[in-house]
Amino acid sequence: MQWLKSIGSSLKINHLANTVRDSLWQANCPLCKRPADHILCRDCDRQITAYQSPEFLQKDNPIALEIPLYSWGIYDGALKRAIAACKYDNHPEIMEVIGEKIANTWQRSPITRALVQKYKQISVVPIPLHANKLKSRGFNQAEVLAKQFCDLAQIPCKPQILQRIKDTKAQMQTKSVIEREENLSQAFTVPSIKANYRDVILCDDIYTTGATIREAIATLRRRDINVRAVVVMARPQFQR
Ligand SMILES: [Zn+2]
Repeated sequence: MQWLKSIGSSLKINHLANTVRDSLWQANCPLCKRPADHILCRDCDRQITAYQSPEFLQKDNPIALEIPLYSWGIYDGALKRAIAACKYDNHPEIMEVIGEKIANTWQRSPITRALVQKYKQISVVPIPLHANKLKSRGFNQAEVLAKQFCDLAQIPCKPQILQRIKDTKAQMQTKSVIEREENLSQAFTVPSIKANYRDVILCDDIYTTGATIREAIATLRRRDINVRAVVVMARPQFQR
């Protein structure tokens, strides 16, 4: 039965080789574990794209009239599941896929291209995580998203401009508007930076109540840094 043993061991070697090849070159789709095309499989990619928002610019101006909010998608269904898989199942590469999608939409829009032309020194600042959360999650999803977006849209990414100094509760766990505001009060700081940054675009994964974004805008404004736009991956539809 030596021949059977040798087939068995060669099959095992093949299996091992497949695993090594998959992990080195072509990891499976992190959402469905089937063979991937470009990080995700085509099917999951299509499902996510189905949640692309019909309008990139949020016409209700939820932050302020002078600060446009751009949201790539609707926070629901496959897109919501993908964000959860990224954050809680340790798949930062999902944010890279969506960062690419945002960059494509950004570059197709004349309004956003005009914004970058108007403020020549503009850079993108991702909403930071507190050091404790960064340690437990291992990555800041907003920063992964922002870096990929910036690489493709050719805008400098400057995560060092804003720092989170308060380990806040998740906004979803707060019960009232007052509690939400207190939770975020003085959550951020602008560490001493040598370069002069005047104009920035804030970037985050999800826009819900806008409390986090507003607190970040206020902190930056105290240091004479103006937020010219906010870009997020998704926003729940019920708020519109
Ligand atoms: Zn898939």
